[in-house]
Amino acid sequence: MKIAIAGGSIAGLACALTLTCTGHDVHVYERATAPLRGRGGGVVVLRQMLRFLEQHGHRVRAMLSVPTHHRRWIDRNGNVIREDPELLPFSSWDAVYRSLCSMLPPTAILYGHTVESVAEVADSVDIRFADGAAPVRADILIAADGTGSRLRSMLFPDSASSYAGYIAWRGVVDESTFNRADIADLVENMTLFHAAGELFMTFLIPALDGSLEPGTRRFNWLWYRNETHAASIGAFLTGRDGLRHHASVAPGELSERSLAHLHQAALERLPRTLSQLVAATGAPFLQAISDALSPSFAKGRIALVGDAACTLRPHTGSGTSKAADDAVSLAQALAEPGPDVARILAEWATVRRAAVEPLLLKGPRLAQSFGLGSP
Ligand SMILES: Cc1cc2nc3c(=O)[nH]c(=O)nc-3n(C[C@H](O)[C@H](O)[C@H](O)COP(=O)(O)OP(=O)(O)OC[C@H]3O[C@@H](n4cnc5c(N)ncnc54)[C@H](O)[C@@H]3O)c2cc1C
Repeated sequence: MKIAIAGGSIAGLACALTLTCTGHDVHVYERATAPLRGRGGGVVVLRQMLRFLEQHGHRVRAMLSVPTHHRRWIDRNGNVIREDPELLPFSSWDAVYRSLCSMLPPTAILYGHTVESVAEVADSVDIRFADGAAPVRADILIAADGTGSRLRSMLFPDSASSYAGYIAWRGVVDESTFNRADIADLVENMTLFHAAGELFMTFLIPALDGSLEPGTRRFNWLWYRNETHAASIGAFLTGRDGLRHHASVAPGELSERSLAHLHQAALERLPRTLSQLVAATGAPFLQAISDALSPSFAKGRIALVGDAACTLRPHTGSGTSKAADDAVSLAQALAEPGPDVARILAEWATVRRAAVEPLLLKGPRLAQSFGLGSP
């Protein structure tokens, strides 16, 4: 079958890979005009994603993740108040993204293609783009256009993501920026600091070129903070270009006002060992945390995957792995499609939605245990 995928991030590329492997003619249409290199932070790569990458390519755990020995909770003075073994494989969004890109033929991904409208016509889907690119006709369209999915809104106009009551300030900073003594406690450990309505965490991730060599790696940090004041959220989501963003502000796009707020809050509220990371980060970024669950994961010949289908809280660490499971299960369902493709997609959607719903519920429970978000 001819399969079009809207969105060339983790979920879209994972689907492109599995569906190409099962013999389909697949093209990914990505809104960004160039590969998404360097824009993400750290990610936990769970078992399913590692297995997926091992089955499809050559990037195994040791090549993808920095060894992390302990999960350490520290107090405001930087003293360790609790220490547990840490076994999660921490990697970077870039490493997973690059790994997926490297396994696809370069011609499979078309950049600068924003899907603007879709229409089902007989046994196919017509796809039109905002950028003046020629329209395409496919047997199936896969919506992998992320948490703010335009396609989900088109298919299910009443569905909307819901703000969870807190935001995540995020950043990535080179290990080599610091004196070794100043970061000795942070290296190869996950370090957390908790205070009322906020949670800071940091861990090492691979270098941008994938290197895991000590001294070349990067610290990834996330600072979750409750934020219920609509005016403050609006101000933080307004970038340096003066435009109000939907749910995130990318690296380099935070306004001077947001940066000043972040730096001041870090100085006032964080242990020094952690505030030094925030102060040294060149291009912090921001994500408003939200939940989204599409009423169905398919409609006719259009299927939804990844964050477009269901956006999980980041604490579950399962966004990329869920995307891999979506891709594998969809390719299995479409391995021998037969004439009634819409029925196959509907059956896949029912099973898949039931499988991810428990993960969606796990996120708010975890957040509440840290005092994050609306009770
Ligand atoms: C740049 C970037 C950095 C990220 N960094 C992290 C991270 O550090 N840690 C983490 O846990 N998660 C990160 N994520 C989210 C994480 O990748 C997801 O939870 C998971 O991998 C599944 O995402 P997704 O592919 O469904 O959606 P997304 O990653 O949100 O990707 C959606 C893609 O669709 C494209 N798109 C949107 N609308 C259209 C349209 N109309 N037409 C064509 N294309 C469209 C977007 O440009 C984007 O590339 C990041 C996502 C992005 C895009």
